Amino acid sequence: MSAASTDVAYLTRALKMPRARQVAASIAESARTESWDYLEFLAKVLSEEVASREAHGGENRVKAARFPQTKTLDDFDFSHQRSVSRQQIAHLHQLDFLREAHNVIFLGPPGTGKTHLSIALGVQAARRGYRVAFASATEWVTRLAEAKRAGRLADELERLGRIPLLVVDEVGYIPFDPDAASLFFQLVSSRYEHSSLIVSSNKSFSAWAEIFGDAVAVEAMVDRLVHHCHIIALKGDSYRLKGKHRKVTATEQTR
Ligand code: ADP
Ligand code: MG
Repeated sequence: MSAASTDVAYLTRALKMPRARQVAASIAESARTESWDYLEFLAKVLSEEVASREAHGGENRVKAARFPQTKTLDDFDFSHQRSVSRQQIAHLHQLDFLREAHNVIFLGPPGTGKTHLSIALGVQAARRGYRVAFASATEWVTRLAEAKRAGRLADELERLGRIPLLVVDEVGYIPFDPDAASLFFQLVSSRYEHSSLIVSSNKSFSAWAEIFGDAVAVEAMVDRLVHHCHIIALKGDSYRLKGKHRKVTATEQTR
């Protein structure tokens, strides 16, 4: 090992630049054969380090978001789910809605892909550098109710406000206790025009009053939620039953 490469090994460790350490020698080789100038060489080494940090940061943010599974748009079958425009989802996937602090709402019956698409957008946001947090509506309400009980609801809403994207899954599967409408209203209004929500529900907005048990709070909440919002209505049979239909058909055919 030359003195210079020993120095590089020591210095990149001191600076915590493992990727630069790995690639320095081979980039130096390319620089020699392709006659790059010194700055080009330096830029190449540093950009390798930055790319590697971004890739790792992305996976850390995906983990921190606590998605129930990792789903992506690549594994979403648009030929099965024809009620949703591939183009519209691809556009959302570019994350302009996040930069504009707009919301996304998926409405539709069980198994139509609401959670899958919510996760896919969330994973993309995390990989692109945004902090994301995923939980079911019931979990969010529980978390906010605990904060309220401990007298730190305002702090909690402020903390959540610094996370650019919250995913609220499954509004409507379980009816809420009476405090939920007000907590949810506060969550939505604290983020209004400031940070984004992705919300999914198997019930139409008109049924939300019943789920939350407070028509007035729900009207005010939905008003803010949908003001800057992409609403995607999914239709069709549950994807969960897809294989089952096939099996039944296969058995029937062999009879
Ligand atoms: P929902 O939240 O609307 O009830 P999910 O998104 O949880 O439905 O979908 C149920 C299951 O079916 C998940 O495993 C999901 O990945 C899968 N799924 C749903 N729709 C599709 C689709 N169009 N292509 C591929 N997988 C799908
Ligand atoms: Mg779901």
